[in-house]
Amino acid sequence: MPMKIVHIAVRDFAVPAPRTGSIEPNSGFRSFAEGQEIHARVQQKRLQADPTYKPEVCTSQSFQRGDYEFQVSGRMDGLFGSTPPRIEEIKSTFNVYDLYKKLLDHPWDHPYCLQLKTYGYFYWLEHKILPKLSFHIVSTRNSDTQDMDVKFDLKETVVRYEEWLERRLDELLEQTKKCEKRSARRKDVASDFRFPFENPRSGQFELIQSIEAGIAEKHRMMIQAPTGLGKTAGVLFPVLRQALSRGQRVIYVTPKNSQHLVAEDAVTRFQDVGSAVKSLTLTAKAKLCFKNEPLCNPDYCEYARDHYTKVHENKLLDVLARKRKLKAKHFRELGEDFQVCPFELQLDAAPEADVVICDYNYVFSPRSALNKVSALELDQEGKANLVIDEAHNLPSRAMDYYSPSLSSFVLEKMREEMKEMTELPRLIRTEAEELLEECMHVVASCQPKDCDPKGTLIEPPLEPFYEQDLQLRAFLSRYLDSDIEIKPRDVILRLCFYWSEFTAALEFLEGQGDVPKQSDQSALAIQAIQNDQKHPEFFVTFRPKLPSGGTIKITCCDASEMLRTCYDAYEHVVGFSATLKPFDYYARLSGLNSERLRKSEFSSPFDKAQRKLLIIPQISTKYTDRARNYPRIAETIYKISEIRPGNYFAFFPSFEFLERVLEVFDPPPGFTVLRQEREMKARDIETILYYLQSGASTAESTGAGARTSPTIVFAVQGGVFSEGVDYPGEMIIGAFVVGPPLPNFDLEREQMREYYQKYYGSGFDYAYTFPAMAKAVQAAGRVIRSETDRGIIVLMDSRFIHPSYTQSMPGDWFEESPRELVSSSILQEVREFWHGSGAGTEAGY
Ligand code: SF4
Repeated sequence: MPMKIVHIAVRDFAVPAPRTGSIEPNSGFRSFAEGQEIHARVQQKRLQADPTYKPEVCTSQSFQRGDYEFQVSGRMDGLFGSTPPRIEEIKSTFNVYDLYKKLLDHPWDHPYCLQLKTYGYFYWLEHKILPKLSFHIVSTRNSDTQDMDVKFDLKETVVRYEEWLERRLDELLEQTKKCEKRSARRKDVASDFRFPFENPRSGQFELIQSIEAGIAEKHRMMIQAPTGLGKTAGVLFPVLRQALSRGQRVIYVTPKNSQHLVAEDAVTRFQDVGSAVKSLTLTAKAKLCFKNEPLCNPDYCEYARDHYTKVHENKLLDVLARKRKLKAKHFRELGEDFQVCPFELQLDAAPEADVVICDYNYVFSPRSALNKVSALELDQEGKANLVIDEAHNLPSRAMDYYSPSLSSFVLEKMREEMKEMTELPRLIRTEAEELLEECMHVVASCQPKDCDPKGTLIEPPLEPFYEQDLQLRAFLSRYLDSDIEIKPRDVILRLCFYWSEFTAALEFLEGQGDVPKQSDQSALAIQAIQNDQKHPEFFVTFRPKLPSGGTIKITCCDASEMLRTCYDAYEHVVGFSATLKPFDYYARLSGLNSERLRKSEFSSPFDKAQRKLLIIPQISTKYTDRARNYPRIAETIYKISEIRPGNYFAFFPSFEFLERVLEVFDPPPGFTVLRQEREMKARDIETILYYLQSGASTAESTGAGARTSPTIVFAVQGGVFSEGVDYPGEMIIGAFVVGPPLPNFDLEREQMREYYQKYYGSGFDYAYTFPAMAKAVQAAGRVIRSETDRGIIVLMDSRFIHPSYTQSMPGDWFEESPRELVSSSILQEVREFWHGSGAGTEAGY
């Protein structure tokens, strides 16, 4: 039988066998792709100084074990052609001296040391010459460097390396067999993977077919599908079956943790009809961590201490691999029982799952942990598939990753909190306060002369931020080394993270290099980029607020290039939502635009007669007209809801707007009015939902019209009540969408408008109209959630019939024109909708 070939990168090969030790910074596991520019800079310098130097030298060797041949390949950072030759690995880190000490203390169980020795060993196998080995460690924050020679001789090092190699190959053999088993299991599951319902819903079958066609054509997909189609199961079924048939898995991402449940339910349905598919839901570190703060080092956290050793000795990954459905509680239980980190455990268990359900962060965040977990791949073709749920959120969410701010106001609040930390030793508190003052000073120093009160564009000096970051980190490490108990939301930690997040973003901007390749953008965009500055999608503003400070903010208004690189890790990508129109807008800003993109829209499976959709263009919510229209909006809500008592939502563009209308609103007799608060606790949100639910149950059990507590909830568009939440049955019977919620016309938004105009030829729509319409359509979509629901949707504003706004509307809202939804006898139509055509007439709108 021919040998089976297993390819493995040196970085994944050269790890301790067995993997032992603790979770800690500079451990060499899960290193992030930072410092690539530093590598390139050092290599450039070496090239100039030494003509014998060669960067990025490829090397590979094969080893046989059992029926397998392991082909290990990698690239040395640099090779000096001296006699003997010298292999140099470049490592960048924040704390050069910490890494230096770790490498010195762990010459045989630090992955970096094993990696360098692997290169040395491979060189020796190939050339029969023992090379010299060395590290060049470079600081990511200042000019510090450390060089370190690593002993490599025949008598001791090679002998010991070969002992490790034997263990590692045995381990790889075992892992490979498991991996083969996993692939075979997945293919087996795929061969008998059945849709969980006997009869797919109307449209669901077409949805599945459309995705299968997209996969066959190797197209990425954007799908707009309304509620009720069963879109989660309809999307996941073909995507998962295809991945499993290749021995692969699906990563299913959602913008909020609360949306994981829908995907988990779909997996349960597959399991209920006999599929042995396995799922794992990833939970945020802050939610899983057992400590007050997730400071992952063995000195602070007992779960970090010897985590890998305990996982190995207790065979915890084997325990987890036996489970069909893994969620936070399983990791918590094992974490408690074996004193290991539950967060790290779930990442280790992820490769075994067929569906990994997680937040966008795990795929799109610049510091995503998931992509750093490599798994051996055998009998697997291609890469995993990616499903992006509620994909209309992706552009703005991705921009947020790169858009941090620093505010004097926040720092002021931290100063107040620090004053209350009386338990801190005086010296530490004084030092923390001094550092905080210095932070405030750095922020204030960015304020330009004649700064516009509404904000001014600036180019911040980078050095003070780096310098302050260094000071804070040094202080933090002393703080953590002390005996002080770290409490939840520790203000010193928050200050350090707040600052370092901003500094990292500045550093990212600084280290961007040349203009990104805008491979799929329009000719207009390419031309504009070629003619213009380097990083047009980023800008920095200063907005003065306090007498002595203000807010400095980095804004990224287009993260499409960063997202585009994330998709490279996936074979097929499907983004879906109930609001993805216009497709071009979402495709471009999600980095999905290309000739190989399939865009599909599906209609609601529900009878149009279940809903009454109206546009009232006589009401204007434009800023200049608002005050005049508050009473009219209040009156409209009153008159329409009075016709049929029940639960309604009135969705406003902002809290300010909501409050003004609420001031002039008297509910119809018997109605209760509730409102969304600006910062609402989860408990209070639940209370409102419970209230709506219990009113609805009463109505359902007593018959329509006998409701005990009809309610109107005043809420905002784009908020917790208008997206990602279901109101089945009578829980709500109507929604008033008051105006498209256009973003504020401020400096940042206007800059964005300019950018979109220049690069996409559509400034106002991209910056204002489309983001607003996504929220309006989402809010309108709350009413009809099942085939038994009936309800009214009222859109108030003349802009809802304007073409640039209507292009975001679902295709089944009207036949030819949105004007079909404008009525000259609104109340009459609403009455007829609820009570039939015999309902009396009364002069209305
Ligand atoms: S328990 Fe918390 S602090 Fe400890 S390693 Fe895990 S995430 Fe880090």
